[in-house]
Amino acid sequence: MGLGRFGGGVGVSRWLAEQNAKVIVTDLANESDLASSIEELQGLPIEFHLGAHDGRDLAAADLLVVNPAVDKAKSDFVRQARTRGIPITSEINLFVEHCPARIIGITGSTGKSTTAAMIFDVLYAHLSSLNGSPHNVWLGGNIGESLLPELARMSTSDFVVLELSSFQLEDLASLQRSPHIAVVTNLSPIHLDRHGTFENYLHAKAQIFAHQASDDVLLLSEQAAGVLTDKQIPLGGQRQIIYGQAAELAGRLNVIGEHNQHNATAALHVGRLLGLSDSIVVEELSKFAGLPHRLEFVRTYEDARYYNDSKATTPQATATALAAFEGKVILICGGCDRPYDYELLASAIRERARAVICFGENRAKIATYIRRAPAATPLPTIKSVHEFNGGINLARRLARPGEVVLFSPAAASYDAFVNYEQRGDHFKTIVNNWI
Ligand code: ADP
Repeated sequence: MGLGRFGGGVGVSRWLAEQNAKVIVTDLANESDLASSIEELQGLPIEFHLGAHDGRDLAAADLLVVNPAVDKAKSDFVRQARTRGIPITSEINLFVEHCPARIIGITGSTGKSTTAAMIFDVLYAHLSSLNGSPHNVWLGGNIGESLLPELARMSTSDFVVLELSSFQLEDLASLQRSPHIAVVTNLSPIHLDRHGTFENYLHAKAQIFAHQASDDVLLLSEQAAGVLTDKQIPLGGQRQIIYGQAAELAGRLNVIGEHNQHNATAALHVGRLLGLSDSIVVEELSKFAGLPHRLEFVRTYEDARYYNDSKATTPQATATALAAFEGKVILICGGCDRPYDYELLASAIRERARAVICFGENRAKIATYIRRAPAATPLPTIKSVHEFNGGINLARRLARPGEVVLFSPAAASYDAFVNYEQRGDHFKTIVNNWI
């Protein structure tokens, strides 16, 4: 249920078909919306029932595999499956259930992908020095492709670095299993439209450590530890490490921002736990170039530096990005209008931006918040544009030598793009085409 376009649905459909299961894929989206995913399943004995979920498909079903994007509490199809007593699972649950390797799970409100990628890079580069001499280290979960098709190639000495979203963790509850090493980067109230309350969200997140044994390890950032203690979420009897910012990493990273120091500190701890020396890990982390669309350096043009931060889909993420630069920046932001609180971002913009170019559905709203923000600093130049391309060209005209132009939308991309990747690629193409 829910093929989607992010690879999880494709991976689980393929894997089940290869296990000789009789697979029906159902999705509310139609064939043309799902064309690329359907294409990847060509040649497999899979039936597609698209455009709606049909309760009749449940009549002969032994198992319902639900995409984590589906809000199960609101789905009539899921309710019907429950009434029929059909077990419900997910791509991640099937993976965790069958995975022979040792799992390092990473969750948090932000920093999951970056931290997972950092950990993966460190372990992958030093396979032979790791405890238990693994043959391989794998990266997956909420990042990248489904790991189910790789199961057959995994062994008990391998490590899997698994990024886990709150939705995936919510499903994991039914399995009563947690990773051997769990990392929680930070916790703030997001996705509450789906989880209802911050407490529910934290209970979903807690699945990453709730079933750990006494020889498992839980790595918590100071912020995450504070939140869990505050809300009285029980941690368990595993070994716990609460991390701040490692002094060893100061000035050593290629990626910018204090938040990345925190992410790298988590990776440093994981390296230590698996037998690597600090110097090896720090050296490896210093090479980490960052993931695309997260404060990604694009190019220097007429002595101004351009950064693509299209992954910043919330005001908080853009505030974090602004904090990563020393001097004042030219900010390009805007996108889908969601009921976010822009006050904190508006103050950060007042402090850190010389000019702001607002585009997209919420452009007027952001501009109003900036004008109203209480700040000692003068108001930045505020420009509002209808059109994304025009906004980028305007930034080029405003930028002075030595300045940073930061594309960090603070909003989702769906008003004008398929996803944040397409939006960021679009930005990069325009900037890279200037001669
Ligand atoms: P996720 O996978 O959790 O969405 P990413 O690693 O993709 O997180 O980072 C997305 C954005 O979140 C970054 O561009 C940055 O603005 C912000 N971010 C990343 N790590 C942290 C952190 N440790 N603390 C606060 N914000 C962070």
